[in-house]
Amino acid sequence: MDIDLSADDLAFRNDVREFFSSNAYKPGTDYMAWRSEWFGKAAAKGGWDVPKWPKAFGGPGWSPTQHYIWEQETATATLPFDMPFGVGMLAPILMGYGSKEQQERFMPDIRARKVNWCQGYSEPGAGSDLASLKTKAELSADGKTYTVNGTKIWTTAAHMADWIFCLTRTSDTGKRQEGITFLLFPMKQPGIEVKPIITLGGSHTVNMVHITDVKVPVENRIGEEGQGWTYAKGLLQHERTGLAGISRSLVALEKLKEQAGSIKRGNGSLMDDPAFRAKVAALEVDLLALEFTELRSLAAASAGGALGPESSIMKLKGTEIQQRIAKLTVEAGGIYSAGWGHPVGPKFARNGMAGYLSSRAYTIYGGASEVQKDVIAKNVLGIKSGKK
Ligand SMILES: Cc1cc2nc3c(=O)[nH]c(=O)nc-3n(C[C@H](O)[C@H](O)[C@H](O)COP(=O)(O)OP(=O)(O)OC[C@H]3O[C@@H](n4cnc5c(N)ncnc54)[C@H](O)[C@@H]3O)c2cc1C
Repeated sequence: MDIDLSADDLAFRNDVREFFSSNAYKPGTDYMAWRSEWFGKAAAKGGWDVPKWPKAFGGPGWSPTQHYIWEQETATATLPFDMPFGVGMLAPILMGYGSKEQQERFMPDIRARKVNWCQGYSEPGAGSDLASLKTKAELSADGKTYTVNGTKIWTTAAHMADWIFCLTRTSDTGKRQEGITFLLFPMKQPGIEVKPIITLGGSHTVNMVHITDVKVPVENRIGEEGQGWTYAKGLLQHERTGLAGISRSLVALEKLKEQAGSIKRGNGSLMDDPAFRAKVAALEVDLLALEFTELRSLAAASAGGALGPESSIMKLKGTEIQQRIAKLTVEAGGIYSAGWGHPVGPKFARNGMAGYLSSRAYTIYGGASEVQKDVIAKNVLGIKSGKK
């Protein structure tokens, strides 16, 4: 595995750094104006507004190494706020399985960040075991309209969304996975009720969504009826790799060292405390090992290999590392971390506890850790299930 960057890759990295620094947000200026200008300029660079889209759909068509460089540079840059649901999740499904009409209808607004989307997969009785979802979509006798009824849960940003991409059940017979249909419909219409769920960290990001007799024209169905599971599943490996957040963790770890270095302990700082130092060192070793795992899969992808079950390893270990960093940040802040935003003690400690509590979700969404372990056991270690 050759991890040295070529002259072309180094030139690309300089270009990315230059773009990020010359288009950085200037505090006190109109954020939304800056955001739309930023995406416009990124588009003019040749698809930098949609880095992961293929060239055929207006993306930059980067090599795996260029993607890696972009990812690393974004960890330290201030990028405009951007939810993953449209550009990162629905667009690839439209590219792979949507009709030409659907691509033309939905993709320009997704790319322009004009329409906010949310993901309606999980239900009160269907999380890890998603195939047991019950939200029902019944096709009318004339075959033109579905009527949708059911409840979705943990729907991130549903309260801000204009549209939802939703897994629904159209058949109860045969294999459970084969009766699932992928539908798109607007959120702002009668029959859709969004109820907030406030998380442990005190924020409102997730919701319960009740859907009652919502009519969805058949033109809003992606692909074939009953094939929604296949479309939704294809994306999961990519979603998981993205959730590993390795470059962000590298930056967060450096910050943690700086913060702990600012806390006095005896004649030195908390970073001189052997017990705390040992925890930081162990974290650093694990993060380095994970970074090399990512580089190994990058080398394989550069040589034409496909993304395999290592996405589960990266999701599992990457999110555990993020949680350990959040936990050590609380430890570094000591009693001040319990202050929940009160202006006492070191500044970094004020949001430490909220950050730590929010981090509990990292090992749940995008596929819970236990489920990732199952995938690794079966597909990497070759362990057969004990199920008969
Ligand atoms: C902050 C947050 C945001 C989310 N955003 C969205 C969203 O936008 N859209 C959406 O559709 N969903 C979203 N989700 C839902 C998320 O995908 C589910 O929470 C996740 O799939 C787990 O499902 P569950 O919560 O029903 O837990 P369950 O599946 O009931 O799991 C409960 C526990 O049992 C364990 N478990 C389950 N199955 C197995 C098994 N086979 N072997 C061993 N252990 C097992 C799990 O690991 C877990 O510890 C979000 C969740 C969170 C926390």
